Amino acid sequence: MKVEFYRHNLDEQDIANVVKVLHSVFLTTGPVTAEFERRFAEYTGVPNVLAVNSCTAAMQMTLMALGVGPGDEVIVPAMTFIASATCVVHAGATPVLVDVDPETGCMDPEAARRAVTPRTKAILPVHLYGVMADMKALRVLADEHKLFLVEDCAHCVEGERDGVRPGHLSDAACYSFYATKNLACGEGGALITRHEEVARKAKLLSLHGMSKNAAGRYHGLYQHWDMLTLGWKCNLDDIHSALLVDQLGRLDALWARRNTLWKRYEQGFEGTNVARPKVVGKSGHHLYTVWADPARRDALLPALQQAGVGVAVNFRAIHLLEWFRETFGFKPGDFPNAEAIGDRTISLPFYPKMTDAECDYVIETVRGVFKG
Ligand SMILES: *Cc1c(COP(=O)(O)O)cnc(C)c1O
Repeated sequence: MKVEFYRHNLDEQDIANVVKVLHSVFLTTGPVTAEFERRFAEYTGVPNVLAVNSCTAAMQMTLMALGVGPGDEVIVPAMTFIASATCVVHAGATPVLVDVDPETGCMDPEAARRAVTPRTKAILPVHLYGVMADMKALRVLADEHKLFLVEDCAHCVEGERDGVRPGHLSDAACYSFYATKNLACGEGGALITRHEEVARKAKLLSLHGMSKNAAGRYHGLYQHWDMLTLGWKCNLDDIHSALLVDQLGRLDALWARRNTLWKRYEQGFEGTNVARPKVVGKSGHHLYTVWADPARRDALLPALQQAGVGVAVNFRAIHLLEWFRETFGFKPGDFPNAEAIGDRTISLPFYPKMTDAECDYVIETVRGVFKG
């Protein structure tokens, strides 16, 4: 048997929606993107949405719209994808890494507290694998020091913890619609925020700092546009948005299927030496990862692939990657929990189209190679 690491969920309706855009006048940011933003606001319960072309851009635009820049520090967990920290650098600020909870892999609020300095401007937690960071504790910390709170929700469209959903306690939450994410269009992203002003500024920054976008210039009689500030170029076009609009209606059903697979995996690994991270609250169930003996992890990856099981590593601790080591002087031992997870992690196939038989095959194969 061969079980792919990932298969997407786009259907014929999504494809038809793209074809409709291709037959229309507008290809770039226009009515379909506006429709997606409206529906995403409805789904998240957060009124202001800006669609952009990646989560990385969403986080950078958010930080810049909040006024975070040179001289400022932003607290970021060491166990995440590199973009959670590079967006801070692109905004002109300094990422200050902190360690994570050893069981969930999410930012440890106490480690974040110890990292606060007079230069700290924001905390940027990551909802790793779909499990939300402890937003209530982080909100308290942010209030104590008057810091912004920005969520990396690349893994967590559907999650909830302690009655809190993404975007509800923070200044903004940023999403990725990258090819393998729970809501996907190839490349795309969005920010949601309770503050209308943050969305307005981020929108300006995301399109050259121009006072009107193409749709605004197209409708009605000609009027000059102005350049109000120095901006970037990361707006989401209608072609990509067309893939997203109807997926929103299927999100909960797709989540339910992943939840069933998650339970099947958990049962299959119970009582074995296949360790797993802890799930707290309702996980968005983006990734299913297992933790191997660090001395054997790198040998188990090809063994699983050779048995037909697609694998990935999400993630190795970012402070040990070359650029971070060379730029910030990080070294092994700086963030032991993040390192331990990074040295042990193996991500397994986990998507709604995966069958029960495929899931069982992965369980059997993983149990076999872990036994050695
Ligand atoms: C995928 C991912 C991102 C980056 O998303 P892009 O849309 O590719 O910019 C950021 N953070 C995490 C945790 C991710 O997994």
